[in-house]
Amino acid sequence: MKKLLALSLSFLFISTCIFGQEPVDTIYTTKGSVIMFSDRTWQYQEDLEFDGVLNEHLHNLVTSMPDLDLIQTWDSDICYTSDLKNDLSKFNDTIWLCVMNDQSENFVMPFDGQITSRYGYRGGRYHNGIDIDLVTGDTVKSAWDGKVRYAKWNSGGFGNLVIVRHNNGLETFYAHLSKINVAPNQEVKAGDLLGLGGNTGASRGSHLHFEVRFYDAPLNPEEIIDFENKVCKDDNLMVHKAIFRPGAKPTDIEEHGENLASTSNKAVASTKKYYKVRSGDNLTRIAARHGTTVSQLCKLNNISYNSKIVIGRTVRIR
Ligand SMILES: [Zn+2]
Repeated sequence: MKKLLALSLSFLFISTCIFGQEPVDTIYTTKGSVIMFSDRTWQYQEDLEFDGVLNEHLHNLVTSMPDLDLIQTWDSDICYTSDLKNDLSKFNDTIWLCVMNDQSENFVMPFDGQITSRYGYRGGRYHNGIDIDLVTGDTVKSAWDGKVRYAKWNSGGFGNLVIVRHNNGLETFYAHLSKINVAPNQEVKAGDLLGLGGNTGASRGSHLHFEVRFYDAPLNPEEIIDFENKVCKDDNLMVHKAIFRPGAKPTDIEEHGENLASTSNKAVASTKKYYKVRSGDNLTRIAARHGTTVSQLCKLNNISYNSKIVIGRTVRIR
């Protein structure tokens, strides 16, 4: 009896803490699945035949392109539904993608925090997303309207990962979460809670690793989102070969060695931040990656523009 009371109290606690949005169970019926939430509300998934296409116009365009053979399925068990087979380097056209494809559609920042690492090359690998500093437990929200495709632990480095496929045809990844608050097939609106920020998977220090992908291929989130002003840069995105890196391989697993300063101790993180130089680094690259300038780096480290930086050396970033 005591146990039951404790259990129901903890349920009450969870539902009041997490805005009553936490899915507690999914019931599969012959007519569709029903997601039950902790606040006793439920969502019925009618479309048993859902093929994963949320932007039919875009999908018809890309799948009709010869030699491209882009694959996109609807699978809640795997990260990349093309099984890493989509090769965007063969993409010879330009597609006009309406990021805000409906007057009613909004954009909401997944988390409003400081960027600690940008998209691009680092330490011999590509960083496929952008890192946003947060404290474990901070709320992480869906960027646009869409449908949750994947919501579970990922052993490939993402930790607790939520992937949302959006009505505009893009997918967004939200990684290293401490808690997942949505279930696959659940419809979400821009700004809806997806989970709580954390430090799970290949992560050193709490942060949100956020990715934007087009048919499995990562692209720089800053092509679309103005992180400083917290808005979409444009209602449209011109999708062409050049926005994907050459020989784009969606497998390049990210690593998070640069997030040393991105711990929950924000007071320390905001004063001083250091970075250990790795193979392939130069001042321009380090500056770009940390959202600073070469002259600022020179000033902080008392070095000149032409200084050779040695691998393994610690450079002060801010
Ligand atoms: Zn990252």
